[in-house]
Amino acid sequence: MYDRAMGEAVGIDPLHEIQPERIAEIRERLLAWYQAGHRDLPWRHTRDPYRVLVSEVMLQQTQAERVIPKYREFLSRFPTIQSLAAAPTAEVIRAWSGLGYNRRAVHLQRAAQAVVERHGGQMPRDRAALERLPGIGRYTAGAVLCFAFGEDIGFWDTNIARVLHRVFVGPELPARRLSARQLDALAERLVPPGQGYEWNQALIELGAVQCTARRPACLTCPLQTCCRSFPEIQALLSALPRGTRLKRESPFAGSIRYYRGRLIEYLRQAPDGTGLDLLALGHRLRPDFSPEHLPWLRQLVAGLARDGLVLAEERAEYDATDPRRLRVRLP
Ligand code: SF4
Repeated sequence: MYDRAMGEAVGIDPLHEIQPERIAEIRERLLAWYQAGHRDLPWRHTRDPYRVLVSEVMLQQTQAERVIPKYREFLSRFPTIQSLAAAPTAEVIRAWSGLGYNRRAVHLQRAAQAVVERHGGQMPRDRAALERLPGIGRYTAGAVLCFAFGEDIGFWDTNIARVLHRVFVGPELPARRLSARQLDALAERLVPPGQGYEWNQALIELGAVQCTARRPACLTCPLQTCCRSFPEIQALLSALPRGTRLKRESPFAGSIRYYRGRLIEYLRQAPDGTGLDLLALGHRLRPDFSPEHLPWLRQLVAGLARDGLVLAEERAEYDATDPRRLRVRLP
């Protein structure tokens, strides 16, 4: 048991605290639950590293139900890593429509280009090489190694971390008590030899359908009898202020991310390659657009240009102060 008085990750060592029998019981229960039935997701039917990578990048900040149709469309448009690497970036950004966080589309294409250039079009089977690809972090590299190459490797994202924390340490409220390094070690230690694929899919499944952030279904959970958060987690979640409990995302409308997304959407709709000038963009983005908003808009465009999502070109036919001088388009 962790020491509540300590409150911090300091002093908690999950590696020493967890008995092998406990790990064996949890593995057995979770794997049996997963094998008895789980969501039929298209990326669970492939071991192709490119397809696994596409699904993992799409799933990073988007729910599985929304990803399914986009995943199929994207792969029918870019069926191989070579086709994605060679495509015009504007086409990749267009194909990303509906998924949000458009920067992921640019990173995914850059990763595809790097695989073609550095690895002859073959996805590297090596964690360090994968993590050197643009936009690929520790989680995605682990997922590719496990789900495509069948390696028994542990990795975690917010959802897996929540499940591991609840089951092995206790409620993650008011704050998680494990450091990233401790979670790495815990995730790694739990993988049953020869069953890394099923184990990691089962953890993802449990976090998505059973042990959700705000409404864990503890009463029907296969891990209820061996979970360190049951039943306490229910009372802790109920005690959260209503706004916190029901909150799904931080306020979105009016945020920079909101305007970035809308700007890209207008450029997606613009006739091929032509883009829009700064004035036209401003009026589309905000009904109250006025010259006062120009510095804000220029900053928004500059941020998107830095991320490789737009190209901003000066046109000579307008004078230097005219906002129509700057034309913005997809790259
Ligand atoms: S018992 Fe509840 S808190 Fe524990 S793993 Fe299951 S759903 Fe999550």
